[in-house]
Amino acid sequence: MTAPTSTPTRVLVLNSGSSSLKYQLIDMRDGSRPAQGIVERIGEETSRLAHTPLREGGGGKRERNGPISDHSAALKAVAEELAADGLGLDSPELAAIGHRVVHGGLRFTEPTVVNGEVLAEIERLVPVAPLHNPANLIGIRTAMALRPDLPQVAVFDTAFHTTMPESAARYAIDVETADAHRIRRYGFHGTSHAYVSRETARLLGKAPEEVNVIVLHLGNGASASAVRGGRCVDTSMGLTPLEGLVMGTRSGDIDPAVTFHLRRVAGMSADEIDVLLNKRSGLVGLCGDNDMREIRRRIDEGDERAALAFDVYVHRLKKYIGAYYAVLGRVDAVAFTAGVGENAAPVRQAAIAGLEELGLAVDAELNAARSDGARIISPEYARVAVAVVPTDEELEIARQSYALVRGADAPDGTAREALVRGAEGSNE
Ligand code: ADP
Repeated sequence: MTAPTSTPTRVLVLNSGSSSLKYQLIDMRDGSRPAQGIVERIGEETSRLAHTPLREGGGGKRERNGPISDHSAALKAVAEELAADGLGLDSPELAAIGHRVVHGGLRFTEPTVVNGEVLAEIERLVPVAPLHNPANLIGIRTAMALRPDLPQVAVFDTAFHTTMPESAARYAIDVETADAHRIRRYGFHGTSHAYVSRETARLLGKAPEEVNVIVLHLGNGASASAVRGGRCVDTSMGLTPLEGLVMGTRSGDIDPAVTFHLRRVAGMSADEIDVLLNKRSGLVGLCGDNDMREIRRRIDEGDERAALAFDVYVHRLKKYIGAYYAVLGRVDAVAFTAGVGENAAPVRQAAIAGLEELGLAVDAELNAARSDGARIISPEYARVAVAVVPTDEELEIARQSYALVRGADAPDGTAREALVRGAEGSNE
């Protein structure tokens, strides 16, 4: 842990879900985590807080079990745990609290210091993010009540994608209907796409402005993006996170007429179809499992449904790589990230296979090697770099929050300009 100084150097990052609160206290000087943890099952009898302080040699993890009634109680419990480690919310070293907010619509193109008007706007976006924005709002309000004097920064999952041109963001439907209901492609996972595209440039020894990158964020949710010179020009998720790649439990792209058909022929309600496509589709719908490790194990045992699920998953991924190659025209790197992207070598191998004519190839040995850091897995002769770049959404939220409130480059050298494009204009 780094010694305290008079300048605030820490950011508390909060990711508030409907029944959970994840937190990381990040020291901006070196990206270390003096403490992190999670509160789960908020509002139930069996709530659990798991708190992990950074200790020499590890250890020191603490747990609280028992009812935590709401997010306010959860954050108070987190504050107590932090205080017990000398890292309380009243610490002068805290520069800001950074909040992950899923939907920022078109209004929030940058990280934004929260005030009453910003809260009202996030609230106004609830109809397009009914599962996420209400939970994010509770987290922000709770933190504001505990530290009203500290800047609270909202960092939006959609912000990185607001640079998409209309040609990529518009659905080809009646414009009046679309605009009346704010129907357009927003994209999600933006914090990860921003971080990974920038780290990929760093890996290539170039500035973000110099490189075109296809980022494949393959977690349980999955999305692809085409990033030209540090700016997103297309992404695979749309109005909601349902569009695009095959995911753990989501179908990704589907003919919208399937939904009318299910209503008319199967008599399913809109809510039932919503659950089918978001929770019972994708890998889980195809083979019953959404964990790529389990799917690979089943394939090794000759399981045909698991093999089908893998093939559908990879086919869609390959289509997006080709599509974004065409969108970008010139590609410098394809970067794999998140749980599947960082760990599943067979997915990377299969997605890139056969794309040699596009300058894309994977070196089997480099692909199989395991490492925690960012690395290139393409052979030296390949025209386009294929890379594995671990994502770190919390660090990105902390960097953006810090850059905004301190008006400075991140202490690790990431330029403020790259983190908060034109932030001054967006915070009035
Ligand atoms: P989330 O979207 O929930 O943040 P993650 O990015 O953590 O998800 O990714 C979770 C997924 O990553 C798991 O469902 C699993 O399919 C995959 N995964 C994790 N570890 C491995 C591994 N070692 N090999 C293959 N797949 C993995």
